[in-house]
Amino acid sequence: MSDHDQSLWRKTCQEHVESTSLSADLTVDLAVIGGGYTGCAAALTAARAGASVCLLEAQEIGHGGSGRNVGLVNAGLWLPPEDIRGYLGANAGDRLIDLLAAAPSAVFDLINQHGIACDPVRKGTLHCAHSTAGSRNLQTRYAQLTASGAPVKLLSAEQARQRTGSAAFHEALFDPRAGTIQPLAYVRGLARCATEVGAQVFTNSPVQSLKHTAGVWELKTSSGTIRAKSVMQATNAYHQHLQASAPAYVPVYYFQYSTGPLSDNLRASLLPGGEGAWDTGLIMTSFRMDSQGRLIIGAMGDLGHVGSGAHSAWIRRKMTALYPQLADQALVEGWHGRIAMTSDHLPKITRIGPNALSVHGFSGRGIGPGTVFGRMMAESLLANDPALLPVPIVSSHRESWAGLRRAYFETGAALTHLIKARFGP
Ligand SMILES: Cc1cc2nc3c(=O)[nH]c(=O)nc-3n(C[C@H](O)[C@H](O)[C@H](O)COP(=O)(O)OP(=O)(O)OC[C@H]3O[C@@H](n4cnc5c(N)ncnc54)[C@H](O)[C@@H]3O)c2cc1C
Repeated sequence: MSDHDQSLWRKTCQEHVESTSLSADLTVDLAVIGGGYTGCAAALTAARAGASVCLLEAQEIGHGGSGRNVGLVNAGLWLPPEDIRGYLGANAGDRLIDLLAAAPSAVFDLINQHGIACDPVRKGTLHCAHSTAGSRNLQTRYAQLTASGAPVKLLSAEQARQRTGSAAFHEALFDPRAGTIQPLAYVRGLARCATEVGAQVFTNSPVQSLKHTAGVWELKTSSGTIRAKSVMQATNAYHQHLQASAPAYVPVYYFQYSTGPLSDNLRASLLPGGEGAWDTGLIMTSFRMDSQGRLIIGAMGDLGHVGSGAHSAWIRRKMTALYPQLADQALVEGWHGRIAMTSDHLPKITRIGPNALSVHGFSGRGIGPGTVFGRMMAESLLANDPALLPVPIVSSHRESWAGLRRAYFETGAALTHLIKARFGP
């Protein structure tokens, strides 16, 4: 059984995309590698602009982070605005902040325009302070976000209790621009729409080699070849093969569990306003409802190793600490995914050759950013104009001690969960 088979998103997905594996030789304007939000948004944009485009996905659409995530459509990155300006400079930083402030609108507009059946709920998100240090963090974010024009609100402990249905939080930062979706259905919907406007989408077609000869890119799978004027690689934390263009990132695992559909009474007591939520803990916890009234709760950790029992024991205690009324509820589905973190938490666009770009490192914020980056990278590649990109190209990107840091995050999360499962949340 794969680490994705037990996912609630696979069980409840209402979107389907017709696709086969590549079994021919084709010539196109743009070849896209990777069938997540970034690749699918790029293919949709290019096809809508009248370009010939094909997308190659190693497994199925949404196999990577796009089919496994929490489904929080956020307006921005992890980083507060001043940190973004600090890393990118004022001009590039402000441009990125503005682009990503509009990212939820870009996502929800696409969903509405194309009738993507992904349970869109635009009722905002709540970032919840789990401690007094968490409150200070939220106050800093609030000050910086409001100075940048974001319509966020800081809620008191009592308001946070009313909105989350939990007495566990000191404060909460409400962002009305954000919302939730069924993440796998959104990415499959994007791929379906791309095929409807002429993109060719091939699944179970890992690109095994990529080379540029005589002014043309050649992408080979085991049963076909694509020749393309330009290439966009959007493989993020699920990159396979293609060692020369492998992205450098710190892998961080995040798991989720879902209850079954709750009774109307229970449902009404949890997140009654429909927001998605997460807390300020270093080993963070997220929680949201789905359209059938299931609670989905998640935290950092890998369910695929021997110590993973600590995560499931801990998440049960955490759920009951947040919502004592759920003490008898079984956790039905459990799954995990891999996040590509960069040390500065900024996504990186790198050049992999003439008219060929790669992007990775959404650092846990890829629904809005992936949609926006995919669209703008396709526009930039088709126009051969780097000024159209959302961030400047970095000449190369390396992460040192990546394996160690991953081990630190996983050991840290497993140990924290083990200790807290025994002694309290
Ligand atoms: C558990 C979890 C929770 C998260 N929660 C949120 C959230 O609530 N909100 C949010 O905004 N973001 C969240 N994220 C981050 C978000 O899911 C990712 O940033 C986003 O999905 C990245 O999209 P992508 O298209 O760039 O890459 P992916 O969706 O990872 O897609 C990459 C694809 O490339 C394919 N591929 C790899 N190599 C090849 C090859 N050689 N040939 C062909 N195909 C190849 C893979 O099979 C994969 O399908 C979360 C991530 C995880 C894992």
